Amino acid sequence: MTRKRILITGAAGFLGSHLCDRFIQENYHVLAMDNLITGDLSNIEHLFELENFEFYNHDVSKFVHVSGHLDYILHFASPASPIDYLKIPIQTLKVGSLGTHNLLGLAKAKKARMLIASTSEVYGDPNVNPQPEEYWGNVNPVGPRGVYDEAKRFQEAITMAYHTFHGVETRIVRIFNTYGPRMRLNDGRVLPAFIGQALRGEDLTIFGDGSQTRSFCFVDDLIEGIYRLLMGDYSLPMNIGNPDEITIRQFCEEIIQLTGTSQKIVYQDLPQDDPKQRRPDITKAKSLLNWEPKVNRREGLRITYDYFKSLPKENLEKTEHKDFARYNTI
Ligand code: UDP
Repeated sequence: MTRKRILITGAAGFLGSHLCDRFIQENYHVLAMDNLITGDLSNIEHLFELENFEFYNHDVSKFVHVSGHLDYILHFASPASPIDYLKIPIQTLKVGSLGTHNLLGLAKAKKARMLIASTSEVYGDPNVNPQPEEYWGNVNPVGPRGVYDEAKRFQEAITMAYHTFHGVETRIVRIFNTYGPRMRLNDGRVLPAFIGQALRGEDLTIFGDGSQTRSFCFVDDLIEGIYRLLMGDYSLPMNIGNPDEITIRQFCEEIIQLTGTSQKIVYQDLPQDDPKQRRPDITKAKSLLNWEPKVNRREGLRITYDYFKSLPKENLEKTEHKDFARYNTI
């Protein structure tokens, strides 16, 4: 039997690498693509020996070609942490806009179904909690997060346009905060930040007073939701996330408990436009995909902590954020 073929962009990243694993498990032929700005080959190293896995080091904001038939495209290439997209704002805009355009063109040419990774950031600093898909959001286009938020909003718009105008089969997932093994320890996100600080014996940094909320989804749950969305027939945006909302202060206390650190909490300035609340309304995912998260935070955090502890010691010492200086921003 010939295998179905899937192209996964951002394949060496946190979510992309888990998607590669999932589709290999489902016996697909996986074409993995990444330009390795924020991705890391160690996330997919274990797949290189497989005959149904191939890797392309390519920037999808440039013309994308793959030979042969394609059944599916998953577009997961993008910096996704606020620190990353502040450092490489132009690439962030390009991969969400030009990259998506290129891949939609490829999907059209190959008659492939394409799923794009959108984000809860399309809701900005929301005035409605929890956020249903019908909420249009409260985004500052020219703030520091604008490069990510607006690229993702454009991405949704062009994806719908290819769907309605060209009849391309498309899926749009709005991903809420997700955590798990293979997050980058130094990507600046709150969970690796707290765990890294605890492991290094540093104080834990809360931005603002810690009353802002987030809702954290374990990666395995997210991947299952994405899989079901891709296989289903729903083409409007769908929230996938865990509605278990928590303040950042409570979350910090949980990390202190988990790691047993005796360090204290220090408070730093809240970054500009940091959303005050975030919680997905997952009514649609429940009814249309029969999906809801299964892994509770206690369990998920334990798995993630064990992963970070298992990393070579030099990873822990790299507290600097990734150095993007060698990438041009044209
Ligand atoms: N945050 C924090 N300390 C840190 C890193 C982040 O208090 O060391 C806060 C951040 O201001 C935000 C929340 O944790 O309110 C989640 O931040 P993250 O960067 O993980 O993702 P976001 O949901 O803001 O995109």
